[in-house]
Amino acid sequence: MSLQRNSIGGLSASMILAVSSGAHAAPTSVSITPPHGVRLLSGQRFDVRVEGKGTGPFSATLEIDGQPQSFSSGVQNSTMTDGISSAGFGGFNLRGYSQLQPGVHSIRASFADATGSVDVSSTFEILRARGSREPMRNIIILLGDGMGTAHRTAARLVRFGATLGDPNGFLEMDRLPATGMVTTHSLNSIITDSAPGMAGYSSGTHAQNGQEGVFPANVTSPFFFPRVEYMSEYLHRTQGKSLGLVSTADLEDATPAANAVHTGNRGAGTGIFDQFLDESDSEGTGEFGTGLRVLLGGGRRWALPSDQFGSSRAAASDYASLPEDVLDAWGLPDSAAGAADPERDLLSDFIDSGFTYADSGAALDAALAARRPPHKLLGLFAYGNMNVSLDKLAKRRNVLLPGSSTFAVDDYHAPDQPMLDEMTRAALKVLGHRNENGFVLLVEGAHIDKQSHAMDAERAVVDTIEFDRAVGVAKNFAETVDRETVVIVLADHECSGFSIIGALTGTVAAAATLPPDGAVVDPATQPARQKAVGTYDAAGFPQYEILGDGYPRTMDIDGKILFGFGANGDRYETWLTRPRPIVDSLLPTVIRNELSAAGYPGQPFNRSQADGFFIRGQAIGQDQAVHTASDIPVSAYSAHAAVARQFVGVQRNTDVFVKLMRAALGGY
Ligand SMILES: [Zn+2]
Repeated sequence: MSLQRNSIGGLSASMILAVSSGAHAAPTSVSITPPHGVRLLSGQRFDVRVEGKGTGPFSATLEIDGQPQSFSSGVQNSTMTDGISSAGFGGFNLRGYSQLQPGVHSIRASFADATGSVDVSSTFEILRARGSREPMRNIIILLGDGMGTAHRTAARLVRFGATLGDPNGFLEMDRLPATGMVTTHSLNSIITDSAPGMAGYSSGTHAQNGQEGVFPANVTSPFFFPRVEYMSEYLHRTQGKSLGLVSTADLEDATPAANAVHTGNRGAGTGIFDQFLDESDSEGTGEFGTGLRVLLGGGRRWALPSDQFGSSRAAASDYASLPEDVLDAWGLPDSAAGAADPERDLLSDFIDSGFTYADSGAALDAALAARRPPHKLLGLFAYGNMNVSLDKLAKRRNVLLPGSSTFAVDDYHAPDQPMLDEMTRAALKVLGHRNENGFVLLVEGAHIDKQSHAMDAERAVVDTIEFDRAVGVAKNFAETVDRETVVIVLADHECSGFSIIGALTGTVAAAATLPPDGAVVDPATQPARQKAVGTYDAAGFPQYEILGDGYPRTMDIDGKILFGFGANGDRYETWLTRPRPIVDSLLPTVIRNELSAAGYPGQPFNRSQADGFFIRGQAIGQDQAVHTASDIPVSAYSAHAAVARQFVGVQRNTDVFVKLMRAALGGY
């Protein structure tokens, strides 16, 4: 059991002391950032901010452990204060603060407007991660987005089957030696989205939903929020480590970005992609930034100038020049200041910064065929999200869409996309070559989540198998290439209340001819497709045929496993594989429109309307299934057993950061 001591006891954010000392009115919404009780590592940088709402002019004071601090921005007795606060707010910042001394520290602040003054106080705790054990050179985080326990069970049952009560085999992630459970809550909800989900692991602190690498604030740009230092930045600055990000998503998406980009808006793709490069420390000074050297996935739309086909670059999702004190305190060069520049040719800028670029699976192979791998590698294999493995495999196996002469990947303008394990192998080849200082690598199986949202069980399960193959590649690296490596496999949250409810009674052919059930609303009448669900004994032991490529020949076998969604939206359910995926949300508008015109359904409720079994969702007001608050499993491997053993037990998501940093700093 490794549940960590909760040194803030029963204190909650609502217990921050707020005392009005004004004679009449006083400013409102006065707050200190970071949030009360936050835990940070010794030396980890973060921004402190005091803000409030009222009638200017505004002024503020700040003390840490009783010592008065001067702000790095915010003009006292002015209405404009730091020049970046939202209308009606005044803000004062101390950027890039850090504290070496372990233990609980106190912050006291006062904020005044023309009508009065408010005192606030909070605490933060500094943890030590350094120790005398052997530091791990490399950290590999494999994150199956939305992957709960049932997704893992489903992938195992489809990949191996079971007989007489025993699984016929175990997944790579099942076979890692240490497994525990992780809570997934965010700063402002029991139910997180992927931004705080990943940021908990990569920064050790909770973010608000939709935000990554920042604390909440009322400022005019999402990129001006108070920052907290990521694992990648801390380890690049102190150890010269590199960063690799690999995902089947559009790389602007929350999970990859929450390792490298500080933003209060996870959807601000133009600025997110710019920051990937601009804060990568492309010259390798080691003085700032992430050390990003590998970026593989989807999202070409953010790297192309706004006038090119498929570009999504726009000023509205970009940022103007970062505040001066952010640049100073975080050691960023002027070239990292940023600009609202939808016309930027970011792809050329990546290449000019030394990245070898691959736009297809074949180009990726070619880039790695040289005797020495490229020093930096950029692969953008799709305009938005990459396609799911089921659709990538259809092209590889030359199985056309029914009644069509095309493949889904062609319709997505991404005909040749690598599988996740192939991208992982490429990333490790680049990062692992002459690797003295080590690396942090994130590998994300993004569509486990996205297809669970769409309640497309077949696509979600095959993508979990794809993800597991990437786990095998990472584990092999840690076993045979560089044993100073820790590998963890986890999720950011569970998605959809995914569950294995039974198996199809009868054949697939019979299921395909069941009558439509749309009009059946009387609970006394069981719709035909409800009667097709075999529960308990009737489920038996379904056995899928696995081809040489490691994936099932088809998900539609007689007696196939059937899946339910406890956090569902409305859907039509046939229990059979849908030939076409739901139109992906992260795609350029031009491609989304083409897919809609070609008959790809927009949402689960307008899929298979003619013949489906209509299931009214419980996720009220949502078109798709939603995330749940269920704990998720974490599995870990290292040749150094004590490193992996840290993850046994029930732990907070932010504890995972502390344990990985202890691995990197020898304090495990
Ligand atoms: Zn999700």
